[in-house]
Amino acid sequence: MRAKKADTKTYLGIPLYRPKVAFFEFSSCEGCQLQMVNNENTLLDFLSLVEVVNFREAMTERSDAYEIAFIEGSITRDDEVKRLKAIRKNAKVLVALGSCACFGGVNQLKNRFKNLEWVKKQVYGKHPIDTGAVRAVGDVVPVNLMIYGCPIKKEEVEKIVLDLALGKSIVVPQYPVCMECKANENICLFDLGEPCLGPITRAGCNSWCPNSGAGCWGCRGPAEDANVEYMKKIMKEKGFSEKTILERLDCFGGFKTK
Ligand code: SF4
Ligand code: SF4
Ligand code: SF4
Repeated sequence: MRAKKADTKTYLGIPLYRPKVAFFEFSSCEGCQLQMVNNENTLLDFLSLVEVVNFREAMTERSDAYEIAFIEGSITRDDEVKRLKAIRKNAKVLVALGSCACFGGVNQLKNRFKNLEWVKKQVYGKHPIDTGAVRAVGDVVPVNLMIYGCPIKKEEVEKIVLDLALGKSIVVPQYPVCMECKANENICLFDLGEPCLGPITRAGCNSWCPNSGAGCWGCRGPAEDANVEYMKKIMKEKGFSEKTILERLDCFGGFKTK
């Protein structure tokens, strides 16, 4: 996609306000940005709402004149800290996009190892790269808004951007995935012998995984008042091992297990 020259769109002759937005990736798989680009059905509508001025995955032009910065990925290097702080200074609104940005995501799994040099050697062998402990975006700079998920759900991002553009308040579900799962009339996976973190995970994905017969791994982080200890107890009673329970709870970094 090529950025159009800044044009003023009008409705009934009244100029429409289109915030300038930018997307930036840090340590990530870029899957969240890809979700946005993949959104063919509604991409044109989305682009009529905002003016995208920086999006490496989608366009060649670059501009620092943005109001809303979407940050994908976690922070693992000093140069990333410097870059993130510069973006924060430039943006009016900074949005953490996806689990890596919100709480470290799958990247934070390496923080479980005490010896990061050993981890680097195992992963990169004779081709070492500069990478340290993983931090969430909010551990480095103030974050105005978090959009959860691995990957994010594009419909949710569009709704949030629409609300931002219209100056409406942003509502993110606080209730658990189980509520959506029940509304979707799924058979509870626990009854089929499959672990699922739906009771303690923030909804908003429309119970994406249980709809396909897979248990929730908690990629959207904790729902309000999530009782992790009680969840562990229930999973134990259902016969799941300590290892299975911790593997699931630790996967995306949203739950504090230690
Ligand atoms: S949250 Fe998931 S999909 Fe998004 S960048 Fe991180 S690993 Fe990729
Ligand atoms: S399958 Fe998971 S999300 Fe659905 S009701 Fe059971 S525990 Fe909740
Ligand atoms: S069901 Fe759980 S793991 Fe799957 S998308 Fe929703 S929150 Fe993420």
